[in-house]
Amino acid sequence: MINIRQTCPCASGKTYANCCRKLHQDKTIAQTAEQLMRSRYSAYSFKLIDYLVKTTHPDKRTANLHQEISDWADQVEFYRLEIISTRQGLATDKIGKVEFIAHFRLQNKEQQLYEISRFKRHRKDWVYLDGEIGK
Ligand SMILES: [Zn+2]
Repeated sequence: MINIRQTCPCASGKTYANCCRKLHQDKTIAQTAEQLMRSRYSAYSFKLIDYLVKTTHPDKRTANLHQEISDWADQVEFYRLEIISTRQGLATDKIGKVEFIAHFRLQNKEQQLYEISRFKRHRKDWVYLDGEIGK
């Protein structure tokens, strides 16, 4: 069960109810690429697979995507998100990049994923295009 009064996993400092939940429940759309990125991180930590599929660019939605995300989300426990930098991705942009480190546990080992994700507008919504994994 998700406690909506808990601090949002995306590290915004807000409660989940006042943060990513609004996006997860389709009550609002992400204004910026970073906001979408954060909501996807929270979706991973809550295993909201449909949301992750929905916020992937249609060109990248492969037949196995749902299963792949689900398998990955089941294995890992995300516990901290660090946004390093963002480029474009603002309300008036069409593309954006977010550089981040996601901290997670996999088989009880602490690990990090360093990624520069690319986001793009699809119609008016921000969606995830792809990511460059580094370091
Ligand atoms: Zn959030």
